[in-house]
Amino acid sequence: MTRFNTQLVHGLPVNDNNTGAVNPPIYNSSTYAFESVETMPRWDYARSGNPTREFLEQQIAQLEHGTRGFAFGSGLAAIHAVLSIFQPGDRIVVGKNIYGGTYSLLNEYFAHWGVLVEAVDTADYEALDEAVSGRSSEGASHARPAKAVYYEVLTNPLLQVNNVTRISEVAHRYGALSIVDNTFVTPYLQQPLDLGADIVIHSATKYLAGHSEVNAGLVVVKNDELGQKIYFAQNRLGGVLAPVECDAVRRGIQTLALRMERQQENARAVANYLLLHPLVKAVHYPGLPGHEYELESNGLKGAGGVLSFEVVPGMNPADVLNNLNIFHLAVSLGAVESLAELPCRMTHFELPREERLKVGITDELVRLAVGIEDKQDLIEDLGQAFDIAYERYLQRHEGEDLFAAVAQHVYA
Ligand SMILES: *Cc1c(COP(=O)(O)O)cnc(C)c1O
Repeated sequence: MTRFNTQLVHGLPVNDNNTGAVNPPIYNSSTYAFESVETMPRWDYARSGNPTREFLEQQIAQLEHGTRGFAFGSGLAAIHAVLSIFQPGDRIVVGKNIYGGTYSLLNEYFAHWGVLVEAVDTADYEALDEAVSGRSSEGASHARPAKAVYYEVLTNPLLQVNNVTRISEVAHRYGALSIVDNTFVTPYLQQPLDLGADIVIHSATKYLAGHSEVNAGLVVVKNDELGQKIYFAQNRLGGVLAPVECDAVRRGIQTLALRMERQQENARAVANYLLLHPLVKAVHYPGLPGHEYELESNGLKGAGGVLSFEVVPGMNPADVLNNLNIFHLAVSLGAVESLAELPCRMTHFELPREERLKVGITDELVRLAVGIEDKQDLIEDLGQAFDIAYERYLQRHEGEDLFAAVAQHVYA
């Protein structure tokens, strides 16, 4: 058996290559000819399966140590297919800070069709146990255990760490599935199926494809029974990934390890810089020095390339963001180029302000998705933007007693 980095580059061998091409072929065909009416060909219609998609699906199954993989037209299409294996009346316990699109999909669609959704802090194992068992549900005396726990290993945008082993233990205690969105982590930093998860989901749009050029989703399952259910959902709901885009994801996966190493190195450097900057109040990144135990004890080989920080009270974070030259002001993450965004106005604007503040997403919080550029350029870019933001701050308070202005924010 080959090792991880070799698997990234080569996947499983393709046996239909008569040309010597070193890349697997892209089959742009929606239909495949039968040899005769009596024979059933391996491929008949591309939604049901095609060789280009199968290459990617087998590769992600190999990388995540699962039995079977599935490729979808977006992360949300993948999540839709996974959630559709549940029935009306089934209860799903979800992490409190899951991706907003997933939360909306559950509450705006699946809830209408009778799937019950309960949000908990998945790092509070007592609360999680209560929620999964049904003891904390309405009408608790006859509530049945949940059918699944759905969570993300690193939460967005505060980068809290969820422990797959412990959450899966609680889920399995009550016969529930442990379903992990591993988008922020990737199999390079953790393989959740090895730690007890049953289903792993990726928005491959992010790190796996890695170049901000494709929307894609991947699912990997632990066993054949789940594999059959997800295959049925994939083929019936039909949100499959097109062959050319399967190849774009495959090409991205080849460099995952190299990109992630550089992204982490850059993210660490940027986080350390921010930690010491006088205009920064807090930095959220589990890869900060001194957090090694937190990563290790949660089964993580690294912290990834996303981090967030809060500017000091009174500073306008938009004055920093609007003046960046190398970081693009954009949502999404995991690609070669660095991106910066303001969660309260961009990724998390749909969340009512009170709800946002409750989960720690303040108006001053900035999220960075660090790319593979030179770290010194990224740091200098932030530095000059902070300088401009500080000038603006002084202008806004011209003629005022600055200490009083700051004190007003600090003690308000
Ligand atoms: C982006 C994202 C998704 C949704 O993926 P799309 O490809 O945009 O549909 C789901 N989960 C997480 C954690 C994400 O970051």
